[in-house]
Amino acid sequence: MTQLIHRNLRQTPPAAVCAFGMYVRDGEGKTYLDGSGGAAVSSLGHSHPDVLAAMQAQLKTTAYAHSGFFTTDVAEELAARLAADAPGDLNQVYLVSGGSEAIETSLKLARQYFVESGEPGRRVFLARRQSYHGNTLGALALGGNEWRRKPFEPLLMDVARVSPCYEYRERPAGQDVNQYTADLLAELEQKILDIGPKNVIGFCAEPVVGATLGAVPPTPGYFKGVRALCDRYGMLFIADEVMCGMGRTGTLYAIEQEGVVPDIVTLGKGLAAGYQPVGAVLVRDHIVERLRAGSGVFQHGHTYNAHPVAAAAALAVQKLIQRDCLLGAVTVRGATFRRMLRDAFGTHPNVGDIRGRGLFLGLELVQDRDTKRPFDPDLKLHAAVKQKAMDCGLMVYPMGGTIDGRRGDHILLAPPFIATEADLGQIVARLSDGLARALEAIR
Ligand code: PLP
Repeated sequence: MTQLIHRNLRQTPPAAVCAFGMYVRDGEGKTYLDGSGGAAVSSLGHSHPDVLAAMQAQLKTTAYAHSGFFTTDVAEELAARLAADAPGDLNQVYLVSGGSEAIETSLKLARQYFVESGEPGRRVFLARRQSYHGNTLGALALGGNEWRRKPFEPLLMDVARVSPCYEYRERPAGQDVNQYTADLLAELEQKILDIGPKNVIGFCAEPVVGATLGAVPPTPGYFKGVRALCDRYGMLFIADEVMCGMGRTGTLYAIEQEGVVPDIVTLGKGLAAGYQPVGAVLVRDHIVERLRAGSGVFQHGHTYNAHPVAAAAALAVQKLIQRDCLLGAVTVRGATFRRMLRDAFGTHPNVGDIRGRGLFLGLELVQDRDTKRPFDPDLKLHAAVKQKAMDCGLMVYPMGGTIDGRRGDHILLAPPFIATEADLGQIVARLSDGLARALEAIR
């Protein structure tokens, strides 16, 4: 029998036949409230007429133009807009088809920069233990998610790893947060010194960690310290904003809230809000200038680079975020949503932490709030929560992360920026129900 390969090879998911606003409907007529924008993607909700119109107009003029032959006005306009709104001199933009491609692009660009700078000895990337940067081989090598990496380990390039900035679980009891941050930075510096600063290309991290930890923000000053270390040792700082970027945390770029300018920023998901597969890499001027003055070529490229319809969708999404003041809405609604979550789960015996920024929030599930003991990973609580929430007509994004062999379950919430207070209340109500059913099912 011929069939489409799904993630779960033993189970076909329901068919989405219609999606509108905050809802997706399946073939049986059941509707699901979108509490996670899929995987933090659908920031404008579904079937937004302005985005559809922009895509249709682009399709009618130029549906495709190979970037080796042509540029298009729409791709140029999108690049200019992203650069204008980015911090510092992140003015150079490379357009791809998704988050993993954006990461691969950033790895190759960073390496080529040092080759053309007369430092070919720089060949090591640094990243954090609990991190996810995509599923292609370079991106998978960069990420520290053990179970995703495991079968492919022999194929992955060596990446040096340090601790994540994960206050809830890793800050020693009683330790001051500034001391915790200083210790993390000291660990990073020691790692750089161990490898030899002249061998390191750069450090990659998510400003707010999504899939592996569940909306974990950095401690104050952490990224300022990272920036200072990268400057001290001549390394590049790559901020992976594929999940947390494009307004999700209340600023267009999540790193803006840290007051530092990365050398490279990767974008995906919210860039075109799911209307088209698109990603982007933003690069500081001097990096691209080095290549322009050197070989004159970036040795990279994909067939769908700067795809005009994808660019039209992304441009329309960016314009709507500005026109409808959605960054402000994310901040205001995010605060409301967090309050609702605290009211519903603040004293729940199995919710250890509620965290995040803007409309990018996470709940960490624990068996015991006092000891923070996670559930037995074999119970697969996160999978049960996903299924039971679906039964209750809600999409959330639960995951099981791993830290040094211990496994924790968390639920990521990333509703569309258009969510009303009533929508957020519904998400919380259905999640309460779904979580209760999931806990019942694993007992
Ligand atoms: N980087 C981060 C932080 C992500 O969360 C993801 C996907 O979840 C990726 C990269 C990979 O993006 P994609 O799935 O579009 O390839």
